[in-house]
Amino acid sequence: MAGVTFPPFPDGAPARAVVDLDAVTDNVRALRGHAPSSALMAVVKADGYGHGMLPVARAALAGGATWLGVATAEEALALRAGLGGVDARVLVWLLAPGAPFADLVRADVDVTVAAPWALEEAVAGARAAGRTARVQLKVDTGLSRGGVTMGDLPGVLRRAAAAEASGELRVVGVFSHLACADEPGHPSIARQAAAFDAALGLVEGAGLRPEVRHLANSAATLTRPDLHHDLVRTGISMYGMAPGPLLGAPGEHGLRPVMTFQARLANVKQVAAGEGVSYGHLYTTAQDTTVGLVPVGYGDGVPRHGSGGSAGPGGPVAVGTGTDARVLRVAGRVCMDQLVLDLGPGAAERAGDVVTLFGSSDGVAHGATVPNAQDWADAAGTISYEIVTRLGTRVPRVYLGDHRPTEGEAQP
Ligand SMILES: *Cc1c(COP(=O)(O)O)cnc(C)c1O
Repeated sequence: MAGVTFPPFPDGAPARAVVDLDAVTDNVRALRGHAPSSALMAVVKADGYGHGMLPVARAALAGGATWLGVATAEEALALRAGLGGVDARVLVWLLAPGAPFADLVRADVDVTVAAPWALEEAVAGARAAGRTARVQLKVDTGLSRGGVTMGDLPGVLRRAAAAEASGELRVVGVFSHLACADEPGHPSIARQAAAFDAALGLVEGAGLRPEVRHLANSAATLTRPDLHHDLVRTGISMYGMAPGPLLGAPGEHGLRPVMTFQARLANVKQVAAGEGVSYGHLYTTAQDTTVGLVPVGYGDGVPRHGSGGSAGPGGPVAVGTGTDARVLRVAGRVCMDQLVLDLGPGAAERAGDVVTLFGSSDGVAHGATVPNAQDWADAAGTISYEIVTRLGTRVPRVYLGDHRPTEGEAQP
């Protein structure tokens, strides 16, 4: 469980993201505890929210996930190729016209029909692949994003029932997505739940018998057991973050952060009082002080909106890993490759010392609370999802845990 030891920071490496795959496995177990009567789909789109799609998928399956969810055809095919013969159901939900339906059907991926055109392409793909397509219908119950509208649904269901009768496809699932599940009590949740029930009634009435009906994302998994249906689709919570500030801290739900983003001070030096720091001189030193240079910036995914100075406090950074670790705020602009901390007069830090932008306190900063992705989201006016997902390819992922990729295995 908690309390892993981080490996030493390799000499010369400016930054790293430690990804604790055991935390993924444990988080999935915890989430299954929240939804004990439903199957669990681990959502691993966008390279596993920046954590690494394949390692996260394996760790999630070890925790009891039986489904994997991705957005794009490319992700679905990469998942199948990377997992080899591993037994897992895969669903892809964001397909554009001309998507490789035949390849997806051959790879035994469930394809989402979210618009009338997609039903025709799924049928064509099934014919080309010479096998029955597994189709899941996505219904728009009020997000007004993807999904078949309630108005188009009867026609799509008639066409789907005909294609099912001729063996071209089988409707194995029906699902929808919530707009405001991270705001418990938001009136749209009840409206969408009712619309989903109505859609399920139409599906039933069309003679279709899907295996799975699903609506819940992380927020609904944690707060709305009545909406769990047959399957819950968990993304952010599986990575150890709460879906939003209104849902409390991850620990309250039995979750812990998976990713820890660290860098090493590249320079520590004295700066006189009254000097401007970083581009635009957004921050001015109040006294003779010590500044520390952190060699990560927006080119690595640190949001520039996490700059600190006259416009407000910057993103938080835990400095050090020992008992004297402390949390400071970014001083001045976040640049493409670097940012600056005001370490204060007489600071003891040295170039090479480790700083932690966000993540787990495990083996990092005893005595100081390591900021989490939500803290950075608050500082930058965004959500924790974006903070982890945008972490750049320049930052090497270092995997810990039983399911870490083996030496020589291609890292995503
Ligand atoms: C991304 C996504 C999810 C996961 O949402 P979280 O809030 O990260 O749990 C679930 N379902 C669909 C359709 C998605 O696009």
